[in-house]
Amino acid sequence: FFFPLEDMLAVIKPDTQHKGIISEIRGRGFTISRLKDTVLSREMAEEFYREHRDKPFFSQLINHGLFLRSGPCTMMVLTKDNMLEEWRASMGPTDPSEARQAAPGSLRACFAKEILETAVHGSSNTQHTHQKIQFLFRDISTESATSPAYLYI
Ligand code: GDP
Repeated sequence: FFFPLEDMLAVIKPDTQHKGIISEIRGRGFTISRLKDTVLSREMAEEFYREHRDKPFFSQLINHGLFLRSGPCTMMVLTKDNMLEEWRASMGPTDPSEARQAAPGSLRACFAKEILETAVHGSSNTQHTHQKIQFLFRDISTESATSPAYLYI
């Protein structure tokens, strides 16, 4: 696959499902070109957050109440002009209590519980993004990517 630089891999974390967050994301002008529910294994969760593996909260992030692995994550390829900044602004600050103060309309202010249950994620490194998109969607051929059997967008 070839993904233009504006594409981004965004994730709706477990526990944020079925709360209208997908229509919220679309309403903010993001195009969802691919979407897939995946239950992360521990290894996938670690791979997902590999850029944080040396941070003091890494173990908490992977293990917290098994949160990341407690149900399906919705993986999405999103597109919008100025994608990185727009998605960051839409997510709001990492800490949801700060988001509720500083960005009350943000996705985290509306949907996130606490700093380890932040509702949404977005890959910020373009090279990693493309690798992760290929890894996650590798079972979907270009043709079948629009098939309702695989995608429900
Ligand atoms: P994001 O891009 O806003 O999600 O923030 P990061 O990529 O920096 O962090 C990834 C995830 O790690 C966040 O969504 C939080 O769940 C968690 N995290 C980030 N910073 C901290 C922190 O200082 N303490 C704890 N406990 N978790 C953190």
